[in-house]
Amino acid sequence: MYIDIKEIGPEGLSVDRIIACPPLPLEGGVDARLDRARISGDLFRQDGGISFSGEIGTVATLPCSRCLEAYPLPLELHFDLLYTTAPEAAGKRETRVREDAITQAHFDGERIDLTELLSEQVYLGLPLKPLCRPDCQGLCPRCGANRNLTPCTCQEERAEDPRLLVLKKLL
Ligand SMILES: [Zn+2]
Ligand SMILES: [Zn+2]
Repeated sequence: MYIDIKEIGPEGLSVDRIIACPPLPLEGGVDARLDRARISGDLFRQDGGISFSGEIGTVATLPCSRCLEAYPLPLELHFDLLYTTAPEAAGKRETRVREDAITQAHFDGERIDLTELLSEQVYLGLPLKPLCRPDCQGLCPRCGANRNLTPCTCQEERAEDPRLLVLKKLL
């Protein structure tokens, strides 16, 4: 979905749209699925470009980094972008972040791609090590069982670790 910049008048343009987003490829060959997202914000014409600040709300479903089970992660993200037609704005976002935290984005001078905006902002907003819950037990390194679901016998052996027994005697 696009915003045609002809829609942006001298007083700016407020948008509030619901859009679908394709799955986001993550590292390790897996995808994050996204529920339909809400994008709301305000666009203004500026010298040299279009400013666009607003909020994104969606729910990403992505695999836990410990147990690999997919889980839903609600996201509420804020963005501040300055769209310019300068080719150097593309691909140089990391180095062009200024003190006011406005990030430069590239557009073709005619329309702003909301799907691309959504994909990029959600990607930046995802945790590096997603966890289905803070105390996720992960997979057993020996038998591969999901320890959130099935306490495997490897765990019992671990509990009888002689070092632990020594500790118990001390307590
Ligand atoms: Zn997990
Ligand atoms: Zn096990």
